[in-house]
Amino acid sequence: MRNLATIRRISKLETIDGADRIEKATIDGWSCVVKKGELKEGAFCVYFEIDALLPIREEYEFLRNSCYKKTSAQEGFRLRTCRFKGVVSQGLALPIDILPPEINIEENSDVTEILGVQLYTPVEGVVLSGNAKGNFPNWIRKTDQERIENLFDKYSSLYRNEFFEVSIKLDGTSATYYHNNGELGVCSRNLELKESEGNTYWNIEKKYNILALLKSYGKNIAVQGEVIGSGIQGNNEKLTDHRFFIFDIYDIDKRRYMTPGERHEAIAEIMSFNCEREYNLEQVPILGSIKVFDMFNDIKALKEYSVGPSMCPAARREGLVFKSMSLIDGNTVSFKSISNEYLLKQKE
Ligand code: AMP
Ligand code: MN
Repeated sequence: MRNLATIRRISKLETIDGADRIEKATIDGWSCVVKKGELKEGAFCVYFEIDALLPIREEYEFLRNSCYKKTSAQEGFRLRTCRFKGVVSQGLALPIDILPPEINIEENSDVTEILGVQLYTPVEGVVLSGNAKGNFPNWIRKTDQERIENLFDKYSSLYRNEFFEVSIKLDGTSATYYHNNGELGVCSRNLELKESEGNTYWNIEKKYNILALLKSYGKNIAVQGEVIGSGIQGNNEKLTDHRFFIFDIYDIDKRRYMTPGERHEAIAEIMSFNCEREYNLEQVPILGSIKVFDMFNDIKALKEYSVGPSMCPAARREGLVFKSMSLIDGNTVSFKSISNEYLLKQKE
């Protein structure tokens, strides 16, 4: 946990041109606008960093107009970078008498908890039900995975010598971005979506610049992946924003999914058109490739292997998805193995 509220010394206090009620304080590397006359140069103050969420209490009520925030999870006064009379101000400095009297005044001591200060974690608006442009294109495959419970015996005799790519199953919502003969599109699991303000699938498109990259790449493909993050399916990985992880690429001309090798190559080539962007395309975490049906003799062993940490190591994973490394009768073979522990946990 970040130290969001600490006792610090004010190293400098300066007047601000044209302002008679505020002045500028310097606290370590921070500049912060304060009420004039409330603090003294060289003295201690309580310094609250940006992103701190202060509790609803009388002494912070002066922040209500500018800082009040309420989300489904938090309520309070949120500090952010702002500007007063042209001076950039970060955080908040208050006199130490806001502290309970029993507190020992010591430089740099952390008073975050004592003051009930939390880290503000934004909950982004999630707009998953976009304006439909039409049905999901029938020349792309909808994302789906077979459950191994239904297939183990069959696969185990057929594919004993096949290598399968092992990837972590992320729990979010599937998104498809395609380029087909110059035409570009964005789809949710079941629909093609019109571009609209605030739509999560389109926000992802803008964040990663996906359609422009696909256009530069020029081949007819559909990139499919999982959008995960705040407000989506319980946000297992505890992200504060939304991210997109590719799990498959459909080759529209060949009418089949790429093998993992073809997919890596295509992504590398697509990325070569991405010049100095903040966000790069990413794939779901890949754990390696194994001869699954040689390694596991029964479904129980495979299911146990599917339990474990997720991408964020503190989270347990939803399960694993396996994809054949080579084409089998002209197609890739894939399936999912869901972690029973994850399912049990979900019910709680
Ligand atoms: P389910 O979520 O149970 O419907 O399982 C199938 C879905 O898992 C797919 O449609 C994808 O949206 C999603 N998924 C998440 N991670 C992966 C992955 N690593 N590989 C393939 N699909 C995945
Ligand atoms: Mn899912």
